[in-house]
Amino acid sequence: MQNPLNARQQAIIPIAALAARGDMETLTLALHEGLDAGLSVNEVKELLVQLYAYCGFPRSLNALGCFMAVVNARKDSGIVDEEGAEPTPPPQDWDSLAAGTATQTQLVGKSVSGPLFDFAPGIDVYLKAHLFGDIFQRDVLDWPTRELATLSALAAIPGAESQLKSHFAISQHNGITTEQLHAFVAVLAAKCPVDIATHAHAVLSQYLNDSSSKTARADAGINAAFDGNSVFPRGEKNEAYAKYFTGTSYLTMLSREGVTIGNVAFEPGCRNFWHIHHQGGQILLVTGGRGWYQAWGEPARELKTGDVVNIPPGTKHWHGAAHDSWFAHIAVEVPAPGASNEWLEPVSDEEYSRLP
Ligand code: MN
Repeated sequence: MQNPLNARQQAIIPIAALAARGDMETLTLALHEGLDAGLSVNEVKELLVQLYAYCGFPRSLNALGCFMAVVNARKDSGIVDEEGAEPTPPPQDWDSLAAGTATQTQLVGKSVSGPLFDFAPGIDVYLKAHLFGDIFQRDVLDWPTRELATLSALAAIPGAESQLKSHFAISQHNGITTEQLHAFVAVLAAKCPVDIATHAHAVLSQYLNDSSSKTARADAGINAAFDGNSVFPRGEKNEAYAKYFTGTSYLTMLSREGVTIGNVAFEPGCRNFWHIHHQGGQILLVTGGRGWYQAWGEPARELKTGDVVNIPPGTKHWHGAAHDSWFAHIAVEVPAPGASNEWLEPVSDEEYSRLP
């Protein structure tokens, strides 16, 4: 099924959320992915400039510094990224307050006022003149894209529930569909620390406030994912190894250099086939849920958060979730010359169903 968000929209979501969170390591990866997905350098700059209105100059400046390093590193390694258009300057007689008031009214669908703005009129002027008058008129990004970035940043800011809820409504008023909002939460779940997606999901459910089967299904899927994986992002569906798994698993690579480390999340009932790590062996660090490890000829060992399994090289074994719980572990591949994996037969339903 096609994702209701296009590749560029999907790339914007983690960039904005991670910039707002100040998570520079993961932001670096997201920035590379954004440029690879076809965002221009000027579009990313614009995104990070806009964010200062939502999360302040410190976060925005740090994110721009991180982006400058990414752009330079890519130039040095011979990657040619599209610069993209510069913003068209506003006309000489641009009236920021008047234009921003009109833009805000159009975005929200009605003119915005209220007791808070009467109490502190200064913030109303800056919101209208500066955010909507000066920043939103810059034509490098369109309004729906800016809304998506705003939603992402707000999802990453604890305590911004009321603003996030308002912006779900504003984004829908500007052409973002309900399907796209569900997809937005799914992208956060795959690419960002889990609490960001949990936050967005809770506020979106409240906003939609409907019990249609579709929402319920999305709720169940996302909640279940978080149950099994409370530390690292759930990651993408583990398509590459699906042929060695019974059921659906998810994989996020945490390190590809020096020592290979991946975070694996298993849906309830999902387990890998019997297999052997030759030479190096493997260490499992359990991060969530309930699952099993079994070495050939031995009883299965039940696993819960905090358990560690040291699997010696050459041991035939399997690992996976309990039938009624999500399960997640970090898998550390112990480096050794000539290390390799050998995949064998599936764990039969008969054997697996004997486990509680
Ligand atoms: Mn293994």
